[in-house]
Amino acid sequence: SLFRHAAFEISVAEPRGLPPPNGAEIAFAGRSNAGKSSAINTLAMHTRLAFVSKTPGRTQLINFFRLRCGAVMVDLPGYGYAEVPEKIRRQWQALLENYLRERPNLIGLVLIMDSRRPLTQLDRQMLDWFAPSGRPVHVLLTKSDKLTRNEQAKTLAATRKGLAEWGDAVTVQMFSSLKKTGMDEVDGVVRQWLEA
Ligand code: GDP
Repeated sequence: SLFRHAAFEISVAEPRGLPPPNGAEIAFAGRSNAGKSSAINTLAMHTRLAFVSKTPGRTQLINFFRLRCGAVMVDLPGYGYAEVPEKIRRQWQALLENYLRERPNLIGLVLIMDSRRPLTQLDRQMLDWFAPSGRPVHVLLTKSDKLTRNEQAKTLAATRKGLAEWGDAVTVQMFSSLKKTGMDEVDGVVRQWLEA
């Protein structure tokens, strides 16, 4: 798999701390608790590569991991914590916006959403920042194990329809870290981005 044996490189707390572009970057973003850390750990086949953090309000970091192929997996800070002071909220927002809009070597965004609550306001904000670049977005609807097959099919269709607003470079799939389903599909999509 593409994400296996990812190696931690650096954590960054503010835009001016970003490392110089070095290799194609694939960013992972998502609302807090959507299952982003679990998805990264599942894809990397590593129990705690991405920290499953339950401490909202702490400094929000962008974490960079080098993949074996030379590309970089970028774990963006989770957004939407309810109890975050306004000042911190503005800081992470600025960091996310700056990174998503300006990073020249960011080739694609993997956007993590809880399959039971897809396309929240803040998810839309991320799409508004990144999709105009024309670069691809792949949405992982996580915790698919919590939905029946029928619910999965309906959610997938409705989300795909909702995402059309941001153009045809946006794709979507179901994913479960618990059941480890959907891994090959993500792998295939990101591989295509890297080969393009
Ligand atoms: P993050 O804040 O987006 O990084 O979310 P986490 O990865 O920490 O997951 C949030 C919660 O959802 C945790 O309690 C996880 O155990 C749970 N979770 C994450 N992925 C799955 C999944 O695929 N299935 C189920 N049933 N629970 C999950």
